[in-house]
Amino acid sequence: MMSELKINLSDNRKDKPASDKLGFGKYFTDHMFIMDYTDENGWHDARIVPYGPIALDPSAMVLHYGQEVFEGMKAYRTPQEEIVMFRPDMNLQRLNNSCERMSMPQVDTQFVLEAIAKLVEIDQEWIPDGEENALYIRPFMIATEPALGVRASKEYKFMVILSPVGAYYPEGIHPVSIYVEQQFVRAVRGGTGEVKTSGNYASGIKAQEVAKTKGFSQVLWLDGKEHKYIEEVGSMNVFFKVNGEIITPALTGSILPGVTRDSVITLLQDWGYPVIERVISVEELFEASAQGLLEEAFGTGTAAVISPIGSLSLGDLNIEISGGKTGELSQRLYDTITALQRGQLEDSHNWAFKVK
Ligand SMILES: *Cc1c(COP(=O)(O)O)cnc(C)c1O
Repeated sequence: MMSELKINLSDNRKDKPASDKLGFGKYFTDHMFIMDYTDENGWHDARIVPYGPIALDPSAMVLHYGQEVFEGMKAYRTPQEEIVMFRPDMNLQRLNNSCERMSMPQVDTQFVLEAIAKLVEIDQEWIPDGEENALYIRPFMIATEPALGVRASKEYKFMVILSPVGAYYPEGIHPVSIYVEQQFVRAVRGGTGEVKTSGNYASGIKAQEVAKTKGFSQVLWLDGKEHKYIEEVGSMNVFFKVNGEIITPALTGSILPGVTRDSVITLLQDWGYPVIERVISVEELFEASAQGLLEEAFGTGTAAVISPIGSLSLGDLNIEISGGKTGELSQRLYDTITALQRGQLEDSHNWAFKVK
């Protein structure tokens, strides 16, 4: 395969945004990584080039049938001025799983990890200062063959772009209000819910908009068949603390296997909590709440890390969780994971990957 990475540095460096005004995914760094694929030649022409628009044929297959996959991870600067990423091997393995499901070519994860590390190193001045800030890394792959037949493309582009991002919650971690979505569904078993592909998100925007207009910040997704069992919250995995036990929906095929989810399960087990992965109905959850047994609820994902849930609304029913405040366990998980990500705690699980 391609063992060679060509580098063409930009001679037109952009101004960097103020580190307290970053938001999420609004700014992009000076460089990007690209490589091309054809059925005949495999992956080739791996290169780091100045960030900018790409040319795409209007008939490029991704624009019509949505053969696309992506990933999301972050790079951080440690107190020792090292640059680290958090469990990138899991993201790249998931990328290949997504490719497999979407009939797209897999990548050499070792080569891609080295290319990402090189890109981050080149644009390291873009890693923002500030305790809560990070450099978000967005790898993605698109079908580029110019053709309108419904079949797998024979040509692809794989790219990586970088974006300095601020704290997900500028005012600090705080609980959100969630709307239990009973009409629209995100994914069904046998569909593509367990891989990171654009169509899952395109079809979820409607429900998100409806929830927003009703005054909620996100939706709780139920299963696509019976509309009874809890799947995810927004684009996050979800956890509940019920009577001292931690319950999270089992990975049944329509749920995205989050890296943060896996890290949370591992930490909770380290701390001696019983963690149970199983199906859980929204009815059971409201029942637990009525009995005073629902102690905490939170979402997990790379962007927000831990997002406490302060209330859940199902039709006319509304329940408050943890008194509408951030639960003790949610806070502890947030503090621990963010400290691990920034190299401020001993890395006993070998989760840090050193860029430099
Ligand atoms: C990315 C994503 C998650 C969280 O995954 P992480 O690896 O923890 O960032 C959860 N659910 C959905 C639908 C996602 O797209």
